Amino acid sequence: MPIKPEWLRKKIRPSLNQELESMFKKSKVNTVCQEAMCPNISECFSKKQATFLILGPICTRACTFCAVSRGKPMALDADEPQNVAQTVKQLGLSHVVITSSTRDDLSDGGAKHFCKTVSAIKAIDDSIVVELLIPDMRENVEALKQIAHSGAEIIGHNLETVPRLYAVRRGSNYKRSLRVLKLLLSLNPSIATKSGIMLGFGEKDKEVEILMQELLDVGCKYLSIGQYLSPSTHHAPVVEYVKPERFEYLRKIGMDMGFKYIKSSPYTRSSYMAHEYLEAT
Ligand code: SF4
Repeated sequence: MPIKPEWLRKKIRPSLNQELESMFKKSKVNTVCQEAMCPNISECFSKKQATFLILGPICTRACTFCAVSRGKPMALDADEPQNVAQTVKQLGLSHVVITSSTRDDLSDGGAKHFCKTVSAIKAIDDSIVVELLIPDMRENVEALKQIAHSGAEIIGHNLETVPRLYAVRRGSNYKRSLRVLKLLLSLNPSIATKSGIMLGFGEKDKEVEILMQELLDVGCKYLSIGQYLSPSTHHAPVVEYVKPERFEYLRKIGMDMGFKYIKSSPYTRSSYMAHEYLEAT
């Protein structure tokens, strides 16, 4: 693996995380910030920003880049939608991102639980912008219909990388993910769709440009681009630490192609500064 360059030396400062970590423990909610070992955790937690991980912290797929635990998932926590909503209130969030583990064991992929969570948040304050970052739900049209009409303003589904490198996204399919994004928008044209990719698996600029065009072709106008960081030696290795200039280059190309907003930098994650996307457009 290449040596980490100086632009990727962000420090995790546990003292900045404590307040939110104990709040989440008490409220019995999970965050992807903690489960995925996000490098932005101290920055986001100190600003009282977090991304909730619903449907339990155990995933039924085995993407080789992801730090979320995999295995036999737990039963759903019926109190989770309310617990998340109350925590959103406590944090005073005006834009909240909710994501989940992939739950291929559930017939609806967890769609109902997502919808209950959105409703619980909106019941507290309808002006809170809710953004969902969903798995592909195996392209289950009924489940995606529920998600599209859940009340969330933004619905994201990540392509993660270019199709040639999909071995890192075992059990998933690039074309299916594009179809999911297309379907969500056709089911409810009033929502905005968003996607995210990571650089550093060995992708070429031309491949990223093709991916961006294919996102635009399915109506997706928001994109996040960040650097892949390998969670451990058991995960996919980093092939390349991409220079900040290349992130900016791809951002400009994408904006010229027609995206409404692209956040692109080494530490960009799907939910990083998520409020910026709507504010900028
Ligand atoms: S970037 Fe997203 S996942 Fe990472 S700490 Fe911030 S809110 Fe959490």
